[in-house]
Amino acid sequence: MSQNKLFGTNGIRGTVNTELTPDMAVKAGYAIGTFFGKKSLLVGYDARTSGPMFAKAVISGLTATGCNVFLAGMAPTPALQFAVKNHKMDGAVIITASHNPPQYNGIKVIWSDGIEISHEQETEIENIYFEEKNQFADWKQLGATHDLTGINNEYVEAIKKHVDKAKIAEKQFHVVVDGANSVGSLTAPVLMRDLGCKITSLNANIDGTFPGRMPEPRPENLAELSKMVKTLGADLGVAFDGDADRSIFVDETGQIHMGDKTFAVVLKQFLLDKPNSQIVTPVSSSTLIKDTANAYKGELVWTKVGSVTVSQKMKEINSKLGGEENGGVFYGPHQSVRDGAMTTALILDIMAKTGKKLSELVAEQPQYFLEKGKIECPDEKKLKVQEKLLEQVQGMNINTLDGVKIWFDDKSVILVRPSGTETAYRMYAEAKTQERAVQLVQEYTAKLVKILESI
Ligand code: MG
Repeated sequence: MSQNKLFGTNGIRGTVNTELTPDMAVKAGYAIGTFFGKKSLLVGYDARTSGPMFAKAVISGLTATGCNVFLAGMAPTPALQFAVKNHKMDGAVIITASHNPPQYNGIKVIWSDGIEISHEQETEIENIYFEEKNQFADWKQLGATHDLTGINNEYVEAIKKHVDKAKIAEKQFHVVVDGANSVGSLTAPVLMRDLGCKITSLNANIDGTFPGRMPEPRPENLAELSKMVKTLGADLGVAFDGDADRSIFVDETGQIHMGDKTFAVVLKQFLLDKPNSQIVTPVSSSTLIKDTANAYKGELVWTKVGSVTVSQKMKEINSKLGGEENGGVFYGPHQSVRDGAMTTALILDIMAKTGKKLSELVAEQPQYFLEKGKIECPDEKKLKVQEKLLEQVQGMNINTLDGVKIWFDDKSVILVRPSGTETAYRMYAEAKTQERAVQLVQEYTAKLVKILESI
């Protein structure tokens, strides 16, 4: 964390007791409490070993500024976000490092609408933090701390209202749930049991050392889930990240599907039910999302990469569906934030409605091949590189919302984007053949090398 930066691309985040200390959490509590100003805030955490420690530190800071705290304890991030609105809180502080390894933790700040605060609001908190403009409460006006129990059940009940329970129950789906030893295990198995599914649990024991697998639901971490689904002859597998806002699915053959494929499944059904809807997705999403929106009469609204941007755009234009390639689906009728358990319920609903297996639903989609590339680029040269690249691609079909995305006539596409966390440019190419995707990454790597040499 640099001198006057507290929030990174993922809120406040760092390794426990080195980059992020309880002392910082108390001070962050002062700044967050001062920012809200004597309001009622929800506090909760994921399964990380440092969760209670940081929660107590943040609560000390918040109550010192006169904020009342409602402690919800261990819960998925989307359950806490739902509770903010459900209990009419002024906001929330969530202690989580999402998909990061166990030695990390973080502090997320949520606004009264259940969505993470904007970057402008983060800057306000940073200014209070670094300039120590804290407004401490008089000893007679310190905030109180109350326990708030039952939010996980309220969240599960709310999700059930958005799907056809009877139809799902009829199918008696067998689902393997990989909770990553974290908070996904507190809600998803209960939800699916209530929906009449048979559940087999994997990594369901809560353990902040993440002994089962790392909390990022990438294919290399999901081999066990894949094998289990296949061996047991289950209908579906689902894996959550550490705070259960993202979900990645495994079909009945054991095949792991990336988030844009399952988002396209949800998108198609959504547009069949509600044609002409506006759908929000970051510019990094697959062409598959564009194809699906076009085929089923949806209007795509592109945003910069980042879940908060997607949520805020949905709110701004009153869109009811958003999605990211990393397994984040935002289902507006429930809440405009990504939500792993809600997404799971939607996939089961679609399987029940269509009578199709997940493998069949994915096989119906247009197929694209993906190739990624990365090239080192110092931060101070990132802007110049983008300017030079833009000069070279003038007249082509481009989008410059976040990096440079170029669509070609043969339906291939490349996104060239400066990394937000590393001194590098990243490239994501997609094409109808693997060769073309590889060729695009090579071509643009060469272009960037030339540009970097020239500046
Ligand atoms: Mg997450």
